[in-house]
Amino acid sequence: MAKSLTIRKGDRVRVISGKDKGKEGKVLRAYPEKERVVVENVHMMKKHTRPSQKNRQGGIIEMEGTIHVSNVMLICPSCGEATRVGRRRDAGVRVRTCKKCGKDIA
Ligand SMILES: [Zn+2]
Repeated sequence: MAKSLTIRKGDRVRVISGKDKGKEGKVLRAYPEKERVVVENVHMMKKHTRPSQKNRQGGIIEMEGTIHVSNVMLICPSCGEATRVGRRRDAGVRVRTCKKCGKDIA
């Protein structure tokens, strides 16, 4: 069974450890089975590319690498704080809640 993450694509998160500690960004991709996420402008990695039709010169491009979900905290859209995520069930549907302000997180 696939694991589910408390962090999802489109969330805003704050990085809490590593070289990008303190940075905030939007989650671009989430990989629940690996418990990793890709966050906008976080963990930029240089990638060498060969010349192609799109990019005739080739060369080095920078792109985001994946980071483990334990390195980020969700930023609550209601109170704006980086928070741990609680869960509750509402009519069988899992709802995420903010541990700081108690509001539901969409
Ligand atoms: Zn909150």
